[in-house]
Amino acid sequence: MLINKPIQVFFIMLTMAIFNFSCHEANTRNIIALQPIGYTPQTTLNILKNNIEKQYQSTVIILPSITLPDSFINYKKGKRYAASSVIRHLKEVMPDTVQYIAGITNEDIYTTKQDKWGNIKKPESTYKIWGILGLGYKPGKSCIISTARLYSDNESKYLERIIKITLHEIGHNHGLDHCHDKKCLMTDAVERISTVDNAENHLCSKCYNSIK
Ligand SMILES: [Zn+2]
Ligand SMILES: [Zn+2]
Repeated sequence: MLINKPIQVFFIMLTMAIFNFSCHEANTRNIIALQPIGYTPQTTLNILKNNIEKQYQSTVIILPSITLPDSFINYKKGKRYAASSVIRHLKEVMPDTVQYIAGITNEDIYTTKQDKWGNIKKPESTYKIWGILGLGYKPGKSCIISTARLYSDNESKYLERIIKITLHEIGHNHGLDHCHDKKCLMTDAVERISTVDNAENHLCSKCYNSIK
């Protein structure tokens, strides 16, 4: 086949450009693992994958489901898993190829709420085993989302809540603090599900730009 010289050069350059672009993409996109703990419907996982990829410009892989050690459970207020133990555990089981891991469970999770001096917030009976929606350190590699307190008869509302909490905790892992904008995904839920429902399902531009 005869291709004249300029076209041939153009072809080679174009191929190089495409090659460079895909290498660049592969190197800069973070990989976030979505780790189901127990049963989460595949459709929910796929929706979460799409939303995380879109919001954090990353590639999401869905890992096979795992179970947690019973030693993480506290039975004082019903069955609740210690969220801090779960995120530590997730960091340990995280594949080397991923930068972040987000666990999702339908079990209830808790944390111990502290005051600004680092003591257990009073009354201790309330805050020692405090049920939460999710937990992720800022910055951090792992976070946990519980669907136990997100249920709604309205399925799309329920799903929206799961998406928002997941994107919120991953936001903390990316170094984001709580945002003063009540419409922003990073608004502090202040223990009320209505705060979550009132927020949009994406980051405000200020939060979005600060993770770039
Ligand atoms: Zn938060
Ligand atoms: Zn914000």
